[in-house]
Amino acid sequence: STQIQLVRRPAGMPVAEDFRTVTVELPDLGENQVRVRNEFISVDPYMRGRMNDSKSYIPPFELGETMQGSAVGRVIESTSPEFSEGDLVTHFLGWRDIAQADAQAFTQAQELGDVASSVYLGALGLTGMTAYMGLMKVAELKEGDNVFISGAAGAVGSMVGQIAKLKGAREIIGSAGGSEKTALLTQRFGFTQGIDYKAAPILTQLEEAAPNGIDVYFDNVGGDHLEAALNSFNRYGRAALCGAISVYNEKDPNSIPGPRFMTNIVTRSLSMKGFVLQDYLQFAQEFREEIAPHFISGEITYDETVVEGLHNALDAFFGLFSGKNTGKMVVEI
Ligand code: NDP
Repeated sequence: STQIQLVRRPAGMPVAEDFRTVTVELPDLGENQVRVRNEFISVDPYMRGRMNDSKSYIPPFELGETMQGSAVGRVIESTSPEFSEGDLVTHFLGWRDIAQADAQAFTQAQELGDVASSVYLGALGLTGMTAYMGLMKVAELKEGDNVFISGAAGAVGSMVGQIAKLKGAREIIGSAGGSEKTALLTQRFGFTQGIDYKAAPILTQLEEAAPNGIDVYFDNVGGDHLEAALNSFNRYGRAALCGAISVYNEKDPNSIPGPRFMTNIVTRSLSMKGFVLQDYLQFAQEFREEIAPHFISGEITYDETVVEGLHNALDAFFGLFSGKNTGKMVVEI
């Protein structure tokens, strides 16, 4: 099995030397074990946090261990009565071509016909669920709300926009980097307006895009985007703080300036709540029942950026921080 490991904690933006690729001889299967050939593995911005040795909701990656993460593949060998050769499964063993472990590490996935199994890493997986939980359970979107979403052309953001539309939001304003991605927001993902944050400061662009203010903010970016939201919020506005990719590679956390307009939290009675998906998994079934049918009807669409080959997985991961992806970034094994 070929596997990718973290060997050094990155300082700032990760570089290839922080990782190594190893080949591991797999032992014969023990009792109740499964061997899986991965079809796709996921690379996600949150993995950057696991590369630091810091206190978080999820333990840091161990140095010299293969990195974990979502993956989907097919069973090629099994000594478990619950899995047969050819079964499609998801798991969390991540950055490797062949995954082998006790049967409980794997979950059966429904066959989807012509739809690539990568959808289990994105729209029908953690990404889609994060979008749904953040918007509906954390920010408590209501019909008629004006919504602002940062990182809007990315995996989570593009789903948030569409779920907001489905749930009757009024203005759905998204920000993304560059004119092409910005155009996709309105043409493909159901946003009412797209802002190119690279073209001019987000603060003034959002003011202009939302003359009636915003009621909900879904934050994927942090920094200046969070500040812009604080400035444009209406009274009783609600923010779901999902991520802050603009600061993940900051070398010195003390040098990150805090957003201005914090006093608006008081004067406008705002609620801002950080969340991680794992605290909302009790709503996973609701997500599957509410959202999955809209995939089948084509009402919700999703993009994927597919990078070929495990040997390109690190470049795929690095590319998340320069916006190389539209929709979910996945690596085809
Ligand atoms: P994305 O598909 O959104 O990929 C990352 C995108 O971020 C890039 O495509 C790029 O888009 C944008 N970006 C990168 N650097 C910057 C920057 N400096 N300023 C503004 N935008 C930037 O990834 P995900 O959808 O997987 O994740 C989105 C966010 O959600 C992340 O912050 C992630 O950590 C968080 N997350 C949180 C979870 C939770 O449980 N709370 C679960 C999953 C994800 P562009 O070209 O537009 O700049």
